[in-house]
Amino acid sequence: MGKDRLACAEGEKIVPEVMKPATSFTVGVNRAAVSRYAMDDRADFADVDRGLIAGWPDGQVHNDQGDLALDEHITAYIADDAPAPGSVNPSLWRQSQLIKRTGLYKVVDGLYQVRFSANLTIVDAPEGLVIIDTTTSTELAKAGLDLFRTALGNDKPVAAVIYTHTHFDHYAGVKGVVDEADVATGKVPIVAPGTIASFDKYAIGENVIAGNAMSRRMAYTFGLLLPHCDTGLVTVGLSGGYDGMRNVISYISPTDPITRTGEVRNLGGWDFEFLYAPDTEAPEEMHIWIPAIKALTCAENANHSMHNIQTIRGARTRDARNFARYLDESLVRWGDQVAVHYGPHTWPVWGHDDVVTFLESQRDMYKYIHDQSLRLANQGLTPLEAAEVIELPAAIGRRWYNRYYHGGLHHNVRGVFHKELGFWDGDPATIFPLLPDETAKRHVRLIGRDKIIAEGREAIASGDYRWAVQILHHLVFADPADTEAKNLQADAYEQLGYQAEVPQYRAIFLTAAMELRGGVQTAGKVSTDTQDTILAMPIDLLFDFVGVHIIGDQAASIDIQLNLTFTDASSKWTMWVRNGVLNARQGHADHAQLTITGPKAALAGVLLQPAQAEAIIAKAGLETDGDLSVLQTLAAVTDTFDPDFNISTP
Ligand SMILES: [Zn+2]
Repeated sequence: MGKDRLACAEGEKIVPEVMKPATSFTVGVNRAAVSRYAMDDRADFADVDRGLIAGWPDGQVHNDQGDLALDEHITAYIADDAPAPGSVNPSLWRQSQLIKRTGLYKVVDGLYQVRFSANLTIVDAPEGLVIIDTTTSTELAKAGLDLFRTALGNDKPVAAVIYTHTHFDHYAGVKGVVDEADVATGKVPIVAPGTIASFDKYAIGENVIAGNAMSRRMAYTFGLLLPHCDTGLVTVGLSGGYDGMRNVISYISPTDPITRTGEVRNLGGWDFEFLYAPDTEAPEEMHIWIPAIKALTCAENANHSMHNIQTIRGARTRDARNFARYLDESLVRWGDQVAVHYGPHTWPVWGHDDVVTFLESQRDMYKYIHDQSLRLANQGLTPLEAAEVIELPAAIGRRWYNRYYHGGLHHNVRGVFHKELGFWDGDPATIFPLLPDETAKRHVRLIGRDKIIAEGREAIASGDYRWAVQILHHLVFADPADTEAKNLQADAYEQLGYQAEVPQYRAIFLTAAMELRGGVQTAGKVSTDTQDTILAMPIDLLFDFVGVHIIGDQAASIDIQLNLTFTDASSKWTMWVRNGVLNARQGHADHAQLTITGPKAALAGVLLQPAQAEAIIAKAGLETDGDLSVLQTLAAVTDTFDPDFNISTP
């Protein structure tokens, strides 16, 4: 993906005026920040390299077409011994020095990891390999397994695959390590948390139904449009951000569901014991204990980072209390025996005492956020007021693995409020407010543009960037053509980005600055609605996805009904659009205007792109019976989504 990035290091400026240097205020803030961190604790630098067996030739991985699937050179500017530049928070810089590493590592005898943005974990069990999580793409999963086989001369077959949770960076590479036919015949089980229907629903549904909004927000939060450099993206904190989001995302449904804690499977000759941990970092998640090697993973519920209670890219809010609950349950079950903890991101923790301290500390971090947020809510504070005052106690906050590389304390406090109290912050002025552009216009009318510009300049000149952003926001939203205001606001966003410890805040601020200066760029779309995900989508979810495309007010005047027969799923459905709403039910209706019969992939194409229905029907040889003009009626009320909608301007 590196070839698609702007390269600020080489001076290739695609966007005008991108990336100014850090101001003296920002340099000062970043210098002072070190007092918050345990800078002299360097143990992680030894641990991150522990067990290294092999890296990639030339630091690169290519796919079958010869395109780059991973390029370590992208992070080369993050030198191991380089001090943090003035434009990077020192804690984020340090974490980036650690997580930029990739390659094959031995964790303990019988347990290996190929570290990417998301790790491929390989258990070398007596009778076969057990793959725990399959990283972000088929290319990297395949390359990782090949590296393991070549470096260790190990040609044992893959005996099983385990998904720890429903996020794509943990299942997307599955077809790089296992043949779908071997899963279908039951030769290679795929073990995963939750029922199969639930895993499918969250793996696919969480990313697709609101997928366009999520993709655009992901471009902002993970800096997908930014160059990799010390005034651009400096890793995404939990992962390097150097491997291709455009590689192939595959999916195979699980075959062996884990729905109870204490369930055991014998895989490759070793027992694996599971702790079911739903509604934590993902809707379906589980922890895994391998007694033969006393190795534990708490999946993404324990990391070298604070995780998101509310992910900013956009997903349902998580339960901080559950993170703590299941971490403690893991300590109760295995805490007296555990010798090593390994995760699906970052590097392991070795040694019984250190693992116990790590899990206890992460448990307490999540519980502290949960309990203090609700204590202050009960005192009458609003989410923003609570987020401004809650600090972690030093015993928790000075441990590197509790720092804000994925989640941030500020937005996680707001996340707890959201989870427990919903979206309203408790201020009557926010329950039915004017829109931001309307509010902005009235502020500008009342205060005057010149006064706001002067105030914004003064705030920037004195390093008061938070205020500068807020006051200038009125000008930008009142008149998005006001270049002077946009450039000033970009200057303020940029310095806030340089000061942020949370890489997602940095990416949001810097992307906003870039788009305010140069307009919306169009390279960062991450598509999770691939052929595999559409095919794996449960049919009811497919109709949900079609339903969110219906333009309600226009559809209110139509009344259509279609019957559909999904030949490969052996199921019949009827769907109708009436009152501006799409509904669907199993079974055929008596009075449908049209019946279409064919495989799911083609029917999905017809429903999602009714304007191209005739071509799809002809190409796929679908059987139809009835009035085909119904599809044109449907096309007329089906929306398309702009992948590059405005964020930093109205
Ligand atoms: Zn992940």
